[in-house]
Amino acid sequence: MTTLFEKIIAREIPADIVYEDDQVIAFNDIEPQAPVHVLVVPKKPIATLNDLTDEDAALLGRLPITAAQIAKQLGIAEEGYRVLMNCGDNAGQTVYHIHMHLLGGRPLLLPLA
Ligand code: AMP
Repeated sequence: MTTLFEKIIAREIPADIVYEDDQVIAFNDIEPQAPVHVLVVPKKPIATLNDLTDEDAALLGRLPITAAQIAKQLGIAEEGYRVLMNCGDNAGQTVYHIHMHLLGGRPLLLPLA
């Protein structure tokens, strides 16, 4: 089944895209949990972290590298930010196409809810 993020990549539904290259796209989260909340998404549709293979190592590495570049562009790199990936129901994953959340612009203290 085509995921929501594949539809964004294909421009079938709109998104506020902040970065794109041949492997990765990044756009603002529609329900931001912080002043900066960007989703960094590989264009390859991989459902969850459990579905990764060694073949995906380089692609996965692009996600934090891209997140850090975006954090610098948005001026939050020095003050700090959080990146996270949810896997499965207990983590609250809602879109089954792996993605990295980039959150920042305010203190993000633990514990998580
Ligand atoms: P997760 O819960 O880790 O699967 O994250 C999915 C994220 O996608 C959530 O933070 C949603 O707010 C976000 N989201 C859902 N639909 C859209 C959309 N159309 N555009 C941007 N972000 C979206």
